[in-house]
Amino acid sequence: MKLSTRSKEYIIPEYSLTGDLLSFLTCNLQYRYQNKGNLPPSMPIQLWFGEFIHGVMEEAYLKWNNSSDKKTFPWDWEEEIKPIEDIITKRLKVKGLNPPNDYVNNYGPKENMYSARVDRSINIWGPHLFPLIEDAEVLIKGIRNMPLDEDGNARSEYYSINGVIDVLSSLKLDEISSIINDKNNDVENELDSSNDEIKSLDNEISNNSKRNSFQQTLDSFLVVSSDDIDDFKNSNIDDTSSNKDVNKILEYLANDKEFNDILKRFPDEEYEIIIDYKGMRRPCAPNKKDLDKNNIHLLNDDSINENSSLEDYKTWIQHEWQILTYAWLRSMQEDAKPVICGIIFYLNELVPSTGDLVAIREDLRNNKSDIPIDSISKEDWTLLNQWNEKEDLPIHRDLSDKFKMDRSIRIVNIKEDLIEDSLLEFDEVVNKIESSMIKELNGSSIKDAWRADAELRTCTACDFRTFCNKKKKSDDDKSKVPFTIP
Ligand code: SF4
Repeated sequence: MKLSTRSKEYIIPEYSLTGDLLSFLTCNLQYRYQNKGNLPPSMPIQLWFGEFIHGVMEEAYLKWNNSSDKKTFPWDWEEEIKPIEDIITKRLKVKGLNPPNDYVNNYGPKENMYSARVDRSINIWGPHLFPLIEDAEVLIKGIRNMPLDEDGNARSEYYSINGVIDVLSSLKLDEISSIINDKNNDVENELDSSNDEIKSLDNEISNNSKRNSFQQTLDSFLVVSSDDIDDFKNSNIDDTSSNKDVNKILEYLANDKEFNDILKRFPDEEYEIIIDYKGMRRPCAPNKKDLDKNNIHLLNDDSINENSSLEDYKTWIQHEWQILTYAWLRSMQEDAKPVICGIIFYLNELVPSTGDLVAIREDLRNNKSDIPIDSISKEDWTLLNQWNEKEDLPIHRDLSDKFKMDRSIRIVNIKEDLIEDSLLEFDEVVNKIESSMIKELNGSSIKDAWRADAELRTCTACDFRTFCNKKKKSDDDKSKVPFTIP
């Protein structure tokens, strides 16, 4: 009797959008050592903080949501936030991610930057974000055809791609909007009825009965944004100390023209907004003029050759791909509604380090930011511009909350035509990872199979820099006579 042989194991490689694809794009070789080598580096601070802040925000939301009285803000660090930090620290340790010494040796938000960022993230964004969240930590997954390597080979027919998001639903937005609308209506009734400008805009809103309450709220933010007519005249977002009744996230959405245009044309009744948190500063971004001129959304090799300055915007563009891909992954889920936009929170902006502030100032001076100097208050810009980081004290406490909030929130509007492009970009990344893996499996050394290429600051914080190929010799080194045994 002929015994049947066991069929060949069928594998579908699984890639996480942030843990694999964005990490590979940061540096191929570092990704190989960190993710595929069972060689956890002693202190991958960026990786640790990214996971830490994500975990803390999720846990804080659950704590808020599960409390019967929906805990009011601000939360006390010692009593409310520290226990959350402790839980997440333990969870990460199990995964081999240990906190940096700066965190362990310094206690509390006054002493260490990481706890300060956690404290600010929860207390600044929590009151506005948590009431809007419909679902937290939603795992999204999809399958794509595996791209072939240059020799036409592939490990499998498909690959799986995944990510974790928080979801805001239009129903939730409507609910919060109704509360705000009611408040605004009360305020409007008290306003001087002779104000013609307000009256005409108000009529425009009330006449448009077809719009949902969220749309009405967005409109109303453009008319009356707070308890006071002065806020309307400024039509802008003040420090967190004022306007406590205004949901800042709705307000940012209201002030985003592209989002409003999309919403007005949106055919469906219900939709979703997806949320992601980043433990980093807002990346260098194309200014509005550059963006309009170049339609900067793709970063393939051709675009880099044509305009090498696009290289500066790599991270910015990759985050847009990420949100577009998340929108596609979310659309694969049965219970999902169409995703209209994504919001990224760059949480380091709430407590920027000295290095962050220097980089922010450089971006502004070089006009490489989507929030240019003329949209920053004169006080904030003067402070930042005149600050001497070598001699003066850190200034992050002196900058306004508005400056920090503006820089920490990014709205990425979903345009269907860009989703396919983003997916193709990520297919290309998977192709490169797979090609390097196949090369290594076929006997190439790790350093030959994986490219060592990263920005200087990534290399500076990299645990593998001592033996990495990229460790170029400085001119001094080159001039030295190589050591030989006589
Ligand atoms: S030193 Fe730089 S190029 Fe080398 S592995 Fe680390 S990040 Fe990559």
